Amino acid sequence: QARIDRLKAHIPTVPDFPKPGILFWDIMPIMQNPEVFSDSVTLLEEHIKESGIKVDVVVGLEARGFLFGPLLALRLNCAFVPVRKAGKLPGETVKCSYTLEYGKDTVEVQKNSIKPNQNVLIVDDLIATGGTMASACQLMESMQANIVECLAVVELDDLKGRDKISKYPVHSLIHG
Ligand code: IMP
Repeated sequence: QARIDRLKAHIPTVPDFPKPGILFWDIMPIMQNPEVFSDSVTLLEEHIKESGIKVDVVVGLEARGFLFGPLLALRLNCAFVPVRKAGKLPGETVKCSYTLEYGKDTVEVQKNSIKPNQNVLIVDDLIATGGTMASACQLMESMQANIVECLAVVELDDLKGRDKISKYPVHSLIHG
């Protein structure tokens, strides 16, 4: 709990960012302190190891999922695969479009990066409405991957993001 408290103390909230009325949880200060940053990865690692989940691939979501995902993948001695916004990855890709409040967005992954039935752990910094995590789940489903868990550093409970991904286990270190 001391590590969780210290982690939380390194996530200030910024009112009216990026738009008026939004309270933004800023995870960047975690990385300004190597002990706290290391703790954050260790807490994610310990959770996976304690739960006995076998992970073949850590899937990180653009952009802040890339800050934690690769480090966790190294700790778990498994592969890391990025899910990116459309148009950034070379070669053959698999895409998934999802609707936002205004308009549409598309996420993409390299086609041969994940094989059917591999155990994937999807990692992001924060779950808010759950739309981003849900789109990644849809993408992984289309690749016939086996989603073992959706994992985040922070989850904003009031927004009920986990209801959108209720098919899968969801775990977060900090609940806001
Ligand atoms: P959702 O799709 O509404 O769950 O939003 C989650 C995505 O938006 C994640 O990829 C986060 O990086 C980003 N995000 C939303 N709100 C915040 C916040 O308060 N702090 C940091 N990232 C956020």
